[in-house]
Amino acid sequence: MPLDDRYEITDDTRMKAAIPTIKKILNDGGSVILMSHLGRPKDGPTEKYSLKHLVKHLSELLDGKAIEFGNDCIGYDAVEKASKLKAGEVLLLENLRFYKEEEKGDSTFAGKLSKLGDVWVNDAFGTAHRAHASTAVIAKFFPKEKRFFGLLMEGEVESGEKVLNKAEKPFVAIIGGAKVSDKILIIENLLERATDIIIGGGMAYTFFKAQGGNIGKSLCEEDRLDTASELLKKAEKKGVCIHLPSDSVIADKFASDALVSVSPSNNVPEGWMGLDIGPNAIEQFTNVIHHSKTILWNGPMGVFEMEKFQHGTKCIAQAIAEATQKGSFSLVGGGDSVAAVNQFKYSEKVSYVSTGGGALLEYFEGKTLPGIAAVQS
Ligand code: AMP
Repeated sequence: MPLDDRYEITDDTRMKAAIPTIKKILNDGGSVILMSHLGRPKDGPTEKYSLKHLVKHLSELLDGKAIEFGNDCIGYDAVEKASKLKAGEVLLLENLRFYKEEEKGDSTFAGKLSKLGDVWVNDAFGTAHRAHASTAVIAKFFPKEKRFFGLLMEGEVESGEKVLNKAEKPFVAIIGGAKVSDKILIIENLLERATDIIIGGGMAYTFFKAQGGNIGKSLCEEDRLDTASELLKKAEKKGVCIHLPSDSVIADKFASDALVSVSPSNNVPEGWMGLDIGPNAIEQFTNVIHHSKTILWNGPMGVFEMEKFQHGTKCIAQAIAEATQKGSFSLVGGGDSVAAVNQFKYSEKVSYVSTGGGALLEYFEGKTLPGIAAVQS
């Protein structure tokens, strides 16, 4: 969770997401020991990354419940405080990342953590793609019946399954963002599953260039032109329809006061760059989305951080909300698309908004996530 210079929480989304699981355990007569990361401390204990800054807000979200704080996540103090916990009480341990062993997935460290509790509940989808001590390695110290998903993790896995393995067809995947290179594996995996793949954002121009188009000074990964061509060929072979934006909103510079016009995406004038999908592309994409029963969205359609170039992303969010209202299942994931649905006020109108960035991408690349496997296997 982001904190400002005075250690005030600036966005509590992730803490809020953990509350239902904590409350369930307390209401069911358990006590809760909370173990978490905060930031990326490099050299052991650092004031800036102490979880003590979270105690007050956590208490507020738990209806004023007193929170015990452990100054260390292992050792005498942690063991003592954990063993004294009574039903209905909460102990928050200090940042696990103050120990390098956490990220290394050190087994001895995981063993020490495991001794503190009777069961292990993993509710950390955001780090499910990493084999850290507390989020994966710890599992081996608990028998299967004492390892659980928290409610957040359960929701993420069920929604992910619904799209990845049980998608009702037609299934459209909308992939955007800046770089093709980040999205190759996810597109390849989706070619096995989706009916349609919509490609928007800066990455689309590498595809246009690969097809011989003029893209002006739009984003392009020269070293991925062959990859883009291959993906298009593969899609054709598999009968998956790839939709690229037929037109683009173009600008004479990457700035909010740029001159703006519209051009075909494969014929951007010299010196100009595509920064959003154009009106025809919006209509084209909206049509596909409205006809789909399952919708996955990862990555913005343009530089949505600037008002002039956010219309495409906003319209796609709206089309997804409309399709959802008519009964389609929609999953939105990845930092920027989630920021976009929040900004445009559509988060309540899609079926599921994932809290995972890297974890969600790897899940849809078809990889086994250690944090999920640790509970299930
Ligand atoms: P990614 O991190 O790859 O998901 O990409 C997200 C970023 O891509 C956002 O910050 C967008 O501003 C940026 N982006 C989207 N479309 C374009 C575009 N046409 N040109 C440059 N950047 C873009």
